Amino acid sequence: MNPDVWLAAVIGAAIGAAIVAIAMRRKQRKEIISSTLVPHRTRQLLSVLQSGAVIVRRDRRAAFVNNPAAAIGVARPDGALLPAIADLAEQAWERGEAVEEEIAVKRGVLGVTSQVHVRVVPLDDDLVLAVVNDHTEARIAEQSRREFAVNVSHELKTPVGALSLLAESIEEGADDEHMVRSFAGKMRKEARRLTKLIQEIIEISRLQGGESVLDHENVHIAGVIAEAIDGASLTAESKNITLTADVKADPMVMGDRDLLLMALRNLVDNAVHYSDPGKRVTVSCKTDDGAVSVAVVDQGIGIDTKDQERIFERFFRTDPARSRDSGGTGLGLSIVKHVALQHAGTVEVWSQRGVGSTFTLRLQEHRVDPDTQGEK
Ligand code: ADP
Repeated sequence: MNPDVWLAAVIGAAIGAAIVAIAMRRKQRKEIISSTLVPHRTRQLLSVLQSGAVIVRRDRRAAFVNNPAAAIGVARPDGALLPAIADLAEQAWERGEAVEEEIAVKRGVLGVTSQVHVRVVPLDDDLVLAVVNDHTEARIAEQSRREFAVNVSHELKTPVGALSLLAESIEEGADDEHMVRSFAGKMRKEARRLTKLIQEIIEISRLQGGESVLDHENVHIAGVIAEAIDGASLTAESKNITLTADVKADPMVMGDRDLLLMALRNLVDNAVHYSDPGKRVTVSCKTDDGAVSVAVVDQGIGIDTKDQERIFERFFRTDPARSRDSGGTGLGLSIVKHVALQHAGTVEVWSQRGVGSTFTLRLQEHRVDPDTQGEK
């Protein structure tokens, strides 16, 4: 063999052996860290916990780290430990009792901060057990609940304030029949808006409540589309908007018909509200590989790209005055999103300012075998 090739082979083999030796030493070190102080059974037990669990040694390193703890970012499998956890461990030894605290943990390269609850319990003179739970999601849910309560009271104040002003005006102008009629009409409009707002607040609270609100039945989507169009046809007519269905199939979905109708009705109502007179709104339905897509297409005012992500948030409106004018509550799309989620579906928007919008509701098709009447 050529001496150069020999040399290259020998060097290659030596490098390979060195890499293997280093990897084995590392693995052995990791094994030693986790196995010397913490018995196998205990490690098995801690491994199946959903909470993060870390066994901390006197030298401020971890003798054992389960996967959730590593994922939360409080310790690494090689024993490196977040200083805040080591400090808590020292406190627990000093006091001889359990210590708990909320700590902020920066995660990953993006440095996202999580709020983590840690409870540290001394096991003996050498080891403490730290149980770690990430409360970030619970906090976000709590914050969202608080914001919702604040928003609801703010939203309710507007129509109630308007009603009280209108009542005052009627009192003052009681002799002017024309004025009384005009204000009474406005009061009726505000009262209608208030009723809709209250209904939608109840609906969204129910949908967000976590517990499933689904009434499971086979729902013919073509029927739901026809009913949604029927419900919006008077408003469309009054605005000279052509409202049509383009339904090529009648797929079925397993779900709650009333909720699906409400979601589609919200989309069709919006399409009509946010379109100028003379335009066209079409609701189409197609199936594709087990999915049902219902699209509501309008030629309306469109939505700026920057707002498209936010329109599904509760009470978000791109133009609050126009929304209020049309009796909008700012909750319609949020309801659509939650109805889709409850049916394991999605809702997406395509839109361009001045061109129009397309909202697509995607749901799972429920196929029934006509011979057996069973599910396919
Ligand atoms: P609203 O009761 O205000 O209509 P929604 O939750 O239904 O509340 O919609 C949120 C916002 O999204 C609306 O205020 C409006 O700015 C925008 N939007 C919804 N649908 C359309 C649409 N088809 N065309 C243009 N803008 C729309």
